[in-house]
Order: sequence, then structure tokens, then C-alpha cells
Amino acid sequence: RAAVAAVDLVKVYGSGDTAVRALDGVSVGFGRAAFTAIMGPSGSGKSTLMHCLAGLDTATSGTVLLGGTILSGRSDRTLTRVRRERVGFVFQSFNLLPQLTAAQNITLPLDLAGRQPDRELFAHLVGVLGLGDRLGHRPSELSGGQQQRVAMARALVSRPEVVFADEPTGNLDSRSGAEVLGILRNSVRDLGQTVVMVTHDPVAAAYADRVVLLADGRIAGEIDDPDQGSVT
Ligand code: ADP
Ligand code: ADP
Repeated sequence: RAAVAAVDLVKVYGSGDTAVRALDGVSVGFGRAAFTAIMGPSGSGKSTLMHCLAGLDTATSGTVLLGGTILSGRSDRTLTRVRRERVGFVFQSFNLLPQLTAAQNITLPLDLAGRQPDRELFAHLVGVLGLGDRLGHRPSELSGGQQQRVAMARALVSRPEVVFADEPTGNLDSRSGAEVLGILRNSVRDLGQTVVMVTHDPVAAAYADRVVLLADGRIAGEIDDPDQGSVT
């Protein structure tokens, strides 16, 4: 059973003459403990698909399944709960709260859910991400790459079933980008998480187990084993 799936998903923005069919009947499944990249030209519907899969946006028609749960037609309240309990987000625009320290930002989703952070996982992520001496800093006192790594720790510390990453390396130098991709790949391997990543960077896509190609709001193809040994 797929960890996340879309069945005949349609998303129309606007109406009448100006309506845009961003998703035009997308059916796709993302397996448990798999790392999938979604690629495609700008405007092909990648972000829209990811937002619908993650319960951040609702499709016009079709079905989204997360684990055994059907998200389509659920209330905002239910979608918020599903996101909090089961999904992690790594977005390009970080979405860190400026008044909180790095450590507080990392544990915020757990705090909101009334859960305690797993100390061992917290320490592991902070160590791997090189944030050990930055935990007391606010986002404005961190570099772009450090902010991205805080967002990554926040997304992973709650051990969500599914991690959605939208251009996670878009604002990073190649070295920080490789670190972030390595962490995503290891979290799939070691924690059995499912990662769905939107990227237009072939280097980033090579870290994935599978690439799904979108064009004009439709699935246009698939590449299995995109690394071909080029990434070790
Ligand atoms: P991608 O992520 O592949 O660049 P998007 O999902 O952002 O593609 O956009 C797909 C299409 O939907 C584009 O034509 C875009 O202009 C349109 N679109 C995206 N978001 C909105 C919105 N909020 N309102 C109207 N049109 C939108
Ligand atoms: P509430 O509205 O009750 O504050 P949210 O929907 O804002 O709940 O937050 C639920 C989870 O989803 C949080 O972990 C938050 O970071 C994430 N989230 C919600 N909307 C976005 C978004 N647009 N971009 C990135 N993450 C988001």
C-alpha cells in the first residue's frame, strides 16, 4: 500500500475564461520508505500536486490518500491535525518563526501537538546538520543555509510518516545542498520515512529512488533508479 497516493486529481484555479487547470487528472502513488522526486517544467503543477498531497490545499476533484486516510473532503481542522501528526514540510521559504530560537523552531510542531521531542533524534539531527552551536540563535542571526537546516530538523524531529520537500536545495550552496539531500536519503533508509521532493535540479533528483515527471498538469513519465551509480 502506498504511503501517499493521488487518484485522478484535478485542480482548477479561478473560473471562466481565466481558469487554469493546474492538475488535469493525476494518479500516482508514493511507496512507503521510498524517496521520490517530482520534476517538470515551471508551471507544470509540481507545487500544486505537493500542496494537495500534503493537505495544504484541496483539489477540485479526485482523491488523496495518506496512509489509510482519505484526505479529500475533510475539514480544515482534520487536515491540520493530519499535517501535525503525520507530515513534515521542508519548504524553500523556510517558514521559521522569527521570534523563536533555532531550538524552539525545531521543536515547535511537537510542542503544538503536546508531544515531547525524542532527545536522541534531536541530538542526532542537530549534530548531522551542524547546528550544535546555533541552537540559541534566532533565524535573523542564521545564514540561509543554516535556516534551511533548522527547517529540515523541524520537519524530521517528529518522525513524520511522510516528508514533503519543495525545492529543498533551491537556496543552498552545493555543499549544504548535498548535506540536506543526504539527510533526506538517510531518513528514508534508516527511519523508513517516505519522502516526496519537488526539484528541477538533476543533481538533487539523482538522490531519489524514482523520478515522476509532470507536464501540463499530467504525469508525463517516470524514471526508476535515477542515480545510475552517479551518486554514491
Ligand atoms: P510548478 O510548481 O510546476 O511551477 P504550479 O503548481 O506552481 O507549477 O502551477 C501550475 C499552474 O497553476 C501554473 O499555470 C500556475 O500559474 C497556476 N497556479 C498556481 N497557483 C495558482 C494560484 N494560487 N492561483 C492561480 N493560478 C495558480
Ligand atoms: P494552525 O493553522 O492550527 O496553526 P498550520 O496548518 O499552520 O496549523 O500548521 C500545521 C503544520 O503544517 C505546521 O507544522 C506548519 O509548519 C505546517 N504548514 C502549514 N501551512 C504551511 C505552509 N504554507 N508552508 C509550510 N508549512 C506549513
